[in-house]
Amino acid sequence: MNGVGGLRINWAPISHSWVRMAILRRKNDPDGIRVTFATALDQTVRAKCSSCGRIDIIPKRMCLEMRACDKCRNAVLFAIIAEDASDDR
Ligand SMILES: [Zn+2]
Repeated sequence: MNGVGGLRINWAPISHSWVRMAILRRKNDPDGIRVTFATALDQTVRAKCSSCGRIDIIPKRMCLEMRACDKCRNAVLFAIIAEDASDDR
């Protein structure tokens, strides 16, 4: 665990979730595990409609702006979700 602003945070579960959401990349390195941001905005991710819960596979850049949901037709933000959210708590 590392401290941030005096808080003790266990980063492993957070980084694993963010890797599954394609926000971070993890690489094994001789010094340990290297974590970098995955900033390719054209990379597709699973994203969920904040109104009806529909899940689409869309480019990350489309999660940064309002878009019309194909199911509920509301103009909403889609939230990036993990590739396999079944083990999220
Ligand atoms: Zn919707």
